[in-house]
Amino acid sequence: MFIAANWKMNLDKKSILEFTKSLQKFKFSNHINTCIFPPLTYIDYLHNLIKNLPISIGGQNCHFKSFGAFTGEVSANFLKDTGCEYVLIGHSERRILNNENNAEIKSRAETAINSSLKVILCIGENLADRKEGKAVDYIEKQLNDCLPNNFHNSFIAYEPIWSIGTGKIPSSFEIQEMHTHIKKILYKKLNKNINVLYGGSVNVKNINDILDITNVDGVLVGGASLNAKDFLAIYSAAVKHLDISL
Ligand code: PEP
Repeated sequence: MFIAANWKMNLDKKSILEFTKSLQKFKFSNHINTCIFPPLTYIDYLHNLIKNLPISIGGQNCHFKSFGAFTGEVSANFLKDTGCEYVLIGHSERRILNNENNAEIKSRAETAINSSLKVILCIGENLADRKEGKAVDYIEKQLNDCLPNNFHNSFIAYEPIWSIGTGKIPSSFEIQEMHTHIKKILYKKLNKNINVLYGGSVNVKNINDILDITNVDGVLVGGASLNAKDFLAIYSAAVKHLDISL
């Protein structure tokens, strides 16, 4: 079970300090993997504040080259150096706002894995494709186009674009259908089981229903992870869910 928190471009130094005070009072489980993706500039700061806790840290993106003349970019090696274990690749905000295409995303993921980072590769369809019944085919193509050959120790996050930050989520059937399909494709390609996280408007109210869905191996949480109380409530729901299913 994996709980990932994507803070995007939110939470400054003062807010992060407050957030971590709540984390320090909390009793974490050894059976849940957790990773926070803070803004790049606070990776080191957060790392130092929570290095006694079983929480990993990840970068929100990395470049496909390890070093060079790429002003404003971040190297996977540097993320690793500052204590990151994970990196998000292909988030829809980067695909849309930074024009990252599948070929580039594949290359970023490949470089990250070669730098010993675990990748959370994000994929997701837009609302038009969902409405026209093309979501499953769209995701299959997207996955085929952006999955690097060296994909290991890594995860897929299924994040329908129309669900991110909107409060709308697919039905349980739609999530199950998509996750099952993604796992099938991955098994065929890589001959191993890959964990698939769901992302898009996950919150304290819907977490139990989402975790109950077959083939959901965890969640990637945006907005609801910015508040320590909500983040820890989502985490606690995952612990409870795991206790029941063990
Ligand atoms: C995200 O951006 O990865 C995300 C899942 O956001 P939210 O939870 O706010 O929809």
